[in-house]
Amino acid sequence: MKELIELDKKHFIHPTTSIMEQQEKGPKLIVEKGDGIYLTDKEGNAFIDAMSSLWNVNIGHGRKEIAEAAKEQMEQLAFNSTFSTFSNEPAIRLAKKIADLAPPSLNAVFFTSGGSESNDSAIKLIRHYWKIQGQPERNKIISLSRGYHGVTAGATSATGIPQFWDMAGHMLTGFAHAKTPYEIGTTASIQSIREVIEAEGPETVAAFMAEPVQGAGGVLIPPSDYFKEVRKLCDEYGILFMADEVITGFGRTGTMFGIENWAVEPDLMSFAKGVTSGYFPLGGVIVSDQIHEVLKEKSQGVLFHGFTYSGHATGAAVALKNIEILENEGLVENSRLMGEELLKGLQSIKEESVIVGDVRTVGLLGAIEFVQDPATNTRFSPDLKVTSRMIEALHERGVICRGVTYDGTDIVCFSPPLIINKEQIDTLIERLRQSVLAVQQELESQSVK
Ligand code: PMP
Repeated sequence: MKELIELDKKHFIHPTTSIMEQQEKGPKLIVEKGDGIYLTDKEGNAFIDAMSSLWNVNIGHGRKEIAEAAKEQMEQLAFNSTFSTFSNEPAIRLAKKIADLAPPSLNAVFFTSGGSESNDSAIKLIRHYWKIQGQPERNKIISLSRGYHGVTAGATSATGIPQFWDMAGHMLTGFAHAKTPYEIGTTASIQSIREVIEAEGPETVAAFMAEPVQGAGGVLIPPSDYFKEVRKLCDEYGILFMADEVITGFGRTGTMFGIENWAVEPDLMSFAKGVTSGYFPLGGVIVSDQIHEVLKEKSQGVLFHGFTYSGHATGAAVALKNIEILENEGLVENSRLMGEELLKGLQSIKEESVIVGDVRTVGLLGAIEFVQDPATNTRFSPDLKVTSRMIEALHERGVICRGVTYDGTDIVCFSPPLIINKEQIDTLIERLRQSVLAVQQELESQSVK
């Protein structure tokens, strides 16, 4: 154990991590095994993986069927290039399957290795789409504050959390942000998008992109009329609407894709995470028939965009098996039903505690907010580190969760595997209740509550 900790500190630069904290404390957990909704560390301590690790292990850990599908495919054909029209059967079948699952007008898929690559691919495809139609100046991408789209250059710039731009300087030109509907609602957010389009020059705007539910921003669920209004606005200006379904795709929100909750069809959707439940790094972009028609007619010569692993045969076989499991086990429906149970549990904690603000779920994507005064929604001072205390209290009780403290909020997110059952939801809620009451007591004893 000691050796692994030292080797981790010496050789492993972790993603989205405080490097100083790692050097001081070593890795938080060295995970040894995954089984269902549980992760077990090297010392045998079991934790509920209430985040599906990174919102992605939708079918749960340790599924042997996936390992078998990968083994079978690797023995047959692990990988071949899909550049220059070379192809393979799993990638073809996966593209068809995703087209069948997506809204009716989206039927053609470009594959990548993950979410950020999917969003950068979408951005480049969108710019290409306008360029080949003689409008190269239409190249700007508008997205929302508190949105998260990944860490590659375009995706970072589309992300509406400035810390991600600051890490290596600044965002790229050609990106602008409007205000999220979180706190200000539909009308003001739509007005903000309109103002950004007008300020940038409507003839220079290529697309608006947004997550159906802002995940890393704190599970921020837009009002029920929001995306109808977004769609209307995009149509009014003749710009494309792209839904980033990286978290919300493949059952997470109780529907196959998140945007279905708003009954709207986007022009493009990016996806990753749940398409393989994390068993293989794979993502993609699905485009509308209209975009595909333009590409087929006007994209002359080679499309100079592609990843070595676009259309990976083993990845596609894993995704097909994962989707088969989602469908055969009714996990999209389970996500909806268990999401309702999770909400009931969160509401019961809100009733019992004096530091809980908003609680919300859509399918098995949920959040609980902590505030100094629920009546006025006054936030705690960031110095109190309420979210870190909460995450620590949960960890001590065997729950792995994720907090969001951006812009002074104290939000704890939930995104458990879609296989979770009622009894496991009850256990999760009970541990959360104990954690909330413990932190509340701690704050009261420090006279800050
Ligand atoms: N978009 C969204 C909505 C995400 O939540 C994420 C990852 N959390 C990404 C894009 C980036 O995906 P990846 O980390 O696979 O590149």
